[in-house]
Amino acid sequence: MGGLVLARACGVPFISHSCLLLKVPEVGRFRLGVLVGFQPLRLSTNHCKLPARLALPLCSSAQSASPAAHQTAPTSTAFAPKISFCPACGSPTEHRIPKGEEKPRAICTSCGLVHYQNPKMVVGCLVTHKDKVLLCKRSIEPSYGLWTLPAGYMELGESAVEGAVRETWEEANAEVDVEAPFAQLDIPRIGQSYILFRAKLKTPSFSPGVESLECALFNIDEIPFDQIAFSSISVALRLYVEDYKRGKLKVHHGVIDKRYVL
Ligand SMILES: [Zn+2]
Repeated sequence: MGGLVLARACGVPFISHSCLLLKVPEVGRFRLGVLVGFQPLRLSTNHCKLPARLALPLCSSAQSASPAAHQTAPTSTAFAPKISFCPACGSPTEHRIPKGEEKPRAICTSCGLVHYQNPKMVVGCLVTHKDKVLLCKRSIEPSYGLWTLPAGYMELGESAVEGAVRETWEEANAEVDVEAPFAQLDIPRIGQSYILFRAKLKTPSFSPGVESLECALFNIDEIPFDQIAFSSISVALRLYVEDYKRGKLKVHHGVIDKRYVL
């Protein structure tokens, strides 16, 4: 994890060395975010324009984004482990383009089953209590010792909300009421898509689950942005802080590009 993360709003993209630069159009000004992973927030005024192929949308519900703003450059090298053997029958697979399709797939040489690989859904909650945000310090890799929102992979058989509530319980022993969707963030490079919900603690009771060293409520101005585990969580927290300070919570969606890792 870690490295340079670039994100762009639905306007003109900019790049700042070693910084995540977010422009939130409705705010009308640029905001420098974090280099997620391990580097602290650094501010820079030395901006240069990104080439169009790096254009990355980050939009909010309150604005009208043009369809073009949501187009991203192809990321055909998205992370995916190669399927060498058929999960159904155990026979070797061959990788070729099935008839009528455009991408190579793992196809079983025995039973003929085509194995599709798709992005993983990560679901979680941005939990608040008395204007504070609940964060969990990870007790596992990746990003051991860094803070995150309670979130994890969605399981088969559950809805996104159910998964988010489950993860919150597992990581923070916290029972929550989900209020609304908050952010949907795609990370094509690693084949993940985040769905985060706003939620409130049912009771002011929480404690670290097995995947957490500790859990704590943070004031908006005390969120440790230099110690956040994942780019998606950092972006989500910054969006929330911006919303909170404006007094208007929105639903956000966007793309995070991890192609240019330092
Ligand atoms: Zn098979």
